[in-house]
Amino acid sequence: MLTDNHNHTKFFSPDAKMSIEEMNAACISNNVKRLAITEHYEIDYPYKNDPLWKLFDIKKYQESFTEWKKALAPQVELLWGIELGFKEGIEKEIDDIGAKYSFDSVILSAHLFEEKDFYFDREVYERYSKNELITKYVELLVSMADKCNNYCTIGHYDYINRYSSWEDPAIYYSICPKQFDNLFEILASKEKSLEINTRSIFKMMQKNSINVLPDKELLLRFKDVGGRLISLGSDSHTSDTIGFYFNEVGEYLKSLGFDSVCYFKNMKPYQEGL
Ligand SMILES: [Zn+2]
Ligand SMILES: [Zn+2]
Repeated sequence: MLTDNHNHTKFFSPDAKMSIEEMNAACISNNVKRLAITEHYEIDYPYKNDPLWKLFDIKKYQESFTEWKKALAPQVELLWGIELGFKEGIEKEIDDIGAKYSFDSVILSAHLFEEKDFYFDREVYERYSKNELITKYVELLVSMADKCNNYCTIGHYDYINRYSSWEDPAIYYSICPKQFDNLFEILASKEKSLEINTRSIFKMMQKNSINVLPDKELLLRFKDVGGRLISLGSDSHTSDTIGFYFNEVGEYLKSLGFDSVCYFKNMKPYQEGL
């Protein structure tokens, strides 16, 4: 199985329930040989008064990770990652974290839109149409990809649809081609990866969406503008979704002419053949 680049444990991510033993067992039964742990780290998060979302000590996380890595080797290779939440104005803090610690992988994610996380607040779906909201969200991703530098991957570009009740929740390139082009050009020139987040696929399945896989035109456009790096992440918060839908996504990518996906070690990309 391909590397699972995006996972959360109950020890540092307040919304996750997964223990290391459960993670290990799921890796072994799904034949996942390499997995990145990427705990949530939300700087200046508007929900920070909730004690659960207080920032953790990254040094402590590193110490725990070192133990976990030892315990799971050699059957499963663990990679040390983090998922940094973006908002305007914290670019420097984000880049400082990427520079200060020896992560294998840094995922940059936009969970906040106009200071609200869709996970907690759904009223944004009342204020904008689907196309307006997606366009604005991709503009935010462009700003994030452009202003930050010490990262590897843009997480779940489709986070915006997770909690929507849109009839067709799929995100299409044709909704905002200019904005997607801007994003893809930045990722291509900075050699960053675009994540295919299979938790998003899982959520789409729960909504009985007709198109659960990422838009074909969107992926082909990413390739056309020179995007070379695609990473797969299950974004697991429990062990039952580790490696979820990776084989299907791998086949889909192959059918679109992609021949590899990637993972990161010491912040450098490594390709894995499909
Ligand atoms: Zn996320
Ligand atoms: Zn995540």
